[in-house]
Amino acid sequence: MESNKKYWKGLEEYKNTPDFVESNKNEFAEPLPIEDVLSEAGLSTVTPRRDFLKALGFGLGAVTLAACQKAPVHKSIPYLIRPEEVVPGIPNYYVSTFNGSPVLVKTVVGRPIKVEVNPNGGVFSRGTDSQAQASVLDLYDVSKLKKPLLKKKEATWSEIDAFVKGELNKAQASGKKIRIVSSSLNSPSAKSVVADFVAKYPTTKHVQYDAVSYTGIIKANENSFGKSVLPKYNFDKADLIVSFGADFLGTWISGEEFTAQYASNRDYKSLEKKKMSRHFQFEAGMSLTGTNADTRVPIKLSEEGPALIALYNAVTGSTLSGGALPNNVYADKALKLVAKELQQNRGKALVVSGSNDVSTQILVNAINAAIGSYGTTIDLDNPCKRYEGNDAEFAEFVNEMNRGEVAAVFFLNSNPAYDATNAKAFSDALAKVALKVSFSDRVDETSDLCDAVAITPNYLESWGDANTYEGYYSIVQPTINPVFASRQAEQSLLIWSDAAVQDYYQYVRNNYESKIQPAVGKSWTELLQLGVVTAPARTAGTYGFSLSLEAVVASIVASSKALQKDIELHVYESVPMRDGKQANNAFLQELPDPVSKVTWDNYIALAPKQAEKLGYKEFDILTVKGENGYSVDLPLLIQPGQAMGTASVALGYGRSKVGKAGDNVGKNAFPFVSFSNGTLKYATTAKLSATGGREELAQTQTHHSFEGRNIIRETTLKDYLKDPAAGSGNHHKHKVYDLWTTDKHEKLGNDWVMAVDLNACTGCGSCIV
Ligand code: SF4
Repeated sequence: MESNKKYWKGLEEYKNTPDFVESNKNEFAEPLPIEDVLSEAGLSTVTPRRDFLKALGFGLGAVTLAACQKAPVHKSIPYLIRPEEVVPGIPNYYVSTFNGSPVLVKTVVGRPIKVEVNPNGGVFSRGTDSQAQASVLDLYDVSKLKKPLLKKKEATWSEIDAFVKGELNKAQASGKKIRIVSSSLNSPSAKSVVADFVAKYPTTKHVQYDAVSYTGIIKANENSFGKSVLPKYNFDKADLIVSFGADFLGTWISGEEFTAQYASNRDYKSLEKKKMSRHFQFEAGMSLTGTNADTRVPIKLSEEGPALIALYNAVTGSTLSGGALPNNVYADKALKLVAKELQQNRGKALVVSGSNDVSTQILVNAINAAIGSYGTTIDLDNPCKRYEGNDAEFAEFVNEMNRGEVAAVFFLNSNPAYDATNAKAFSDALAKVALKVSFSDRVDETSDLCDAVAITPNYLESWGDANTYEGYYSIVQPTINPVFASRQAEQSLLIWSDAAVQDYYQYVRNNYESKIQPAVGKSWTELLQLGVVTAPARTAGTYGFSLSLEAVVASIVASSKALQKDIELHVYESVPMRDGKQANNAFLQELPDPVSKVTWDNYIALAPKQAEKLGYKEFDILTVKGENGYSVDLPLLIQPGQAMGTASVALGYGRSKVGKAGDNVGKNAFPFVSFSNGTLKYATTAKLSATGGREELAQTQTHHSFEGRNIIRETTLKDYLKDPAAGSGNHHKHKVYDLWTTDKHEKLGNDWVMAVDLNACTGCGSCIV
């Protein structure tokens, strides 16, 4: 049976606009600048990124033509004495860890060229995210500093050490505060180094700050169960998943890990067992997770809290007020169905929320406790240590600087001058600190305000370790010698605190052998070979919920009311760009957003009907003015699935000091983030107005013409088994090839075939990098 469903590659095709009809006549939507690219001028002049996309990203034909040109000759010098482990043409593999996820790094003749998943990685062994895949390019980033900087001039490490130690001694003598500000540190050795530094300079405090924060969940668990932790979520144990705005297959906490768990209940093996999980997604913006849901319900940001109250009432039979969704009948109906299914799946269901509001997360805890999730789909006893940031501590740190109480500050893998909610207030307060040191590989927005930039190597040039989950340890080991005169931040801190062991390799090894090896029973050499070692997991306990919810619900209702304006603005992490730390990575800029397929830009997304109602057309440039007065001009993307009354803007863009590829790409949305009730909030309100300008976005989805062919071919398994050409439209019958036995083509080596289980594929895009 041929499917009678119809698919369109975009709204232009659906509406059959005159522009679409015209562009569909050509294979390439825009003329390719082949002449420019092939001419010497074209290759030597700066190529605008849009032309670059046209020539190389979108135009295979252009690349093929370019490949016909004579390649320039590069001379290489062979080894005089070949290192024992290097055989030209035969790669070496090293295990390491990127952002807490174990990886396997392929090196060829001493150079790392590919990052892949470490098959020994246990919970992380099924795949890596696009950031890990693209991370190898960061190593070769030419925007990095080659030497440390002191007062904006290149300096030697001994000059840096003398300056910092002198200023630290002054700070200590003054009795003022010293602060180390970092994003979440999940390295046991780095934490130990910080503790040693605190012992040497007792007025020091370590402030952990994540621009995209999970403080709300951590605080909610502290309030609900006395456990200040981010739990381990087990999506693989959930027959029913209900998410309120958590993009758990993309950016929420541990997307690559959750994707593997999720797919294990939805891949071809589960189909064979006739068992598949159910997934409901309630959200404002269209997320990668939303595109995979069985049922996706668009709700406004202000409806998320009332929806959770309604769900709690329906699951527990309570009558908390504020749980009505009078203007969203579809969501109201869906919630009743979800409540029924949650009751039927007690102990096998999971409810998650992407909110960073403590009260919202307490209510989510109450629902999960009521459906028996603790001890099954949620584990509080083997917690995730990937995010430990505390938003209130960072806010207090800015106040301390403002009051003139801080004498010295060190920034480690953090860049608040770009991503703090009020970067201007942060920068003004920072000016009152005597000693400001940044551990960074470049002059980024924060380093630019510092006295010293102690340049750090890439993780592929570093030693270290990670403890992403309780009892789960992985190694960071160098795959190449440091290319520039960098020094690991931990080593600098050891030197500045006059530690007994100042070599960080030795420190990591000592730390492992004395503190971790006894629990995991594997030697240092085994750790270097395996990459990951684990201690026996603790038994996941069951937890009951006994808090009164009155104050919690009052707070949720008040927050919901504050959001009820014309346009509710949702600022979110996009799958390619995340929080913007890797904004200078052209692989990631080039990676199309999995939903909108836009590259190299952020934009404001509105629902088609919303845009029509406001009189805006796609690619109109709109001024987006937040409730705090911050405003940016962004091109409009019309996004089916976006909830009416809401708009979405991605974080991670608008960097001004990251490097040639990432500077001034898109606009910074972090200033829309607000701080209230102890946590950062990513939901706000905005006013929109048209500037009269227009900017076309580079979208891969709509670029190519399919020339009348079906975008998706569908058939039933029964028909496919009868005829493998079933569902292929009017095309001729397929000849079935067997690559191993019957194919008669000339065999030069191995035959390869690639098959993707489309039930398991979420469309994350990591494999494109
Ligand atoms: S897009 Fe699909 S196949 Fe590619 S990495 Fe993501 S899940 Fe895997």
